[in-house]
Amino acid sequence: MRKAFKYRLYPTQPQARDLERTLSLCRQLYNAALQERREAYRRAGKSVGFYEQKRWLPEIRAELPEYKGIHSQVLQNVVERVDKAFQGFFRRVKEGEKPGYPRFKGQERYDSFTFPQAGTTGVKLQEDGKRVLIHGIGSVKMKLHRPLEGRLKTATLKREGDDWYIVFVCETEPKPLPENRAAIGIDLGTNPHFLIASDGEMVQAPRYFQKAQAKLATAQRNLSRKKRGSHRRKQARRRVAKLHRKIANQRKDFHHKTARKLVNAYGTIVHEDLNILGLARSRTAKGVLDAGWAQFLQILAYKAEEAGRRVVGVDPRHTSQDCPVCGYREKKPLWVRVFRCSGCGSYFHRDVASAINVLTKARTEPSGMGTAWAVP
Ligand SMILES: [Zn+2]
Repeated sequence: MRKAFKYRLYPTQPQARDLERTLSLCRQLYNAALQERREAYRRAGKSVGFYEQKRWLPEIRAELPEYKGIHSQVLQNVVERVDKAFQGFFRRVKEGEKPGYPRFKGQERYDSFTFPQAGTTGVKLQEDGKRVLIHGIGSVKMKLHRPLEGRLKTATLKREGDDWYIVFVCETEPKPLPENRAAIGIDLGTNPHFLIASDGEMVQAPRYFQKAQAKLATAQRNLSRKKRGSHRRKQARRRVAKLHRKIANQRKDFHHKTARKLVNAYGTIVHEDLNILGLARSRTAKGVLDAGWAQFLQILAYKAEEAGRRVVGVDPRHTSQDCPVCGYREKKPLWVRVFRCSGCGSYFHRDVASAINVLTKARTEPSGMGTAWAVP
């Protein structure tokens, strides 16, 4: 399994300048490689391939001294990124879509460079991870807020606003947890609940998250009042971008913690399948997007796999209409928060009823999702 570890870097001023310069040179190479492919394609309808472009790199390094200080594999990775952009483009054309042609990257749009074989060359941890030696940059201070695990594969230097990070991708072994026969169903929450479980537990999105969002709204209003092209507008845009990043990080952190708790406590976790057609148009669509459910489910699936646990997606249709006790189906208005069954009279919190139904569906309709299993 591949796992990513992201750490903040604290470069000195000269190091920060070198990081910026490397990034800028990589971006120029990216755009040049892209340009060459575009022209070849336009003129002759043929494409220049990855290997062909890769072969010119030593020449570039010989002709342009500023590229000499950059590790050859970092440059190869740049060319590979161009190749990937084209592969994606051609794939989408083939599938009958009308994708945009791969585009040139402006300064704001190009924010990282990668050492593709970091395990053997290019970067090296120093002083128990307090520093990292980066080819062409030097020994940079790093905050190792959690230990690095597994075999190092790649290292990516990433700029976010004015800050720099290093992302290590490592090959890790699964760490199975002891067997657990408990199963739980979870319902896609909308505000104020992020998640509602079949046992009645409700997980709220953390408060600081809402505070940050209010700040973002203010910053966005502020930005909209600034004159185009002005220095103040630029400042305001930076602030908005920074808040966006902060919220995204907080959300991710919250998703990790919530997923960890579920995986630790249950052997099987059942949720509504977001890919089932029609959900995008349903009541939950906005809430689902806001809460970042897709990301949460990805993290959950990853942690479950690592721990040897099961995550199952079921068809979400009717989960909010069926009675968990007798199965009586009745369409109810959305504002009705209490689920009261006209068939048998039992009642639940509406979303708890949904979560129970989600769990029941996994027990009774295992084959429908292509996941053959049975809850004990
Ligand atoms: Zn009933």
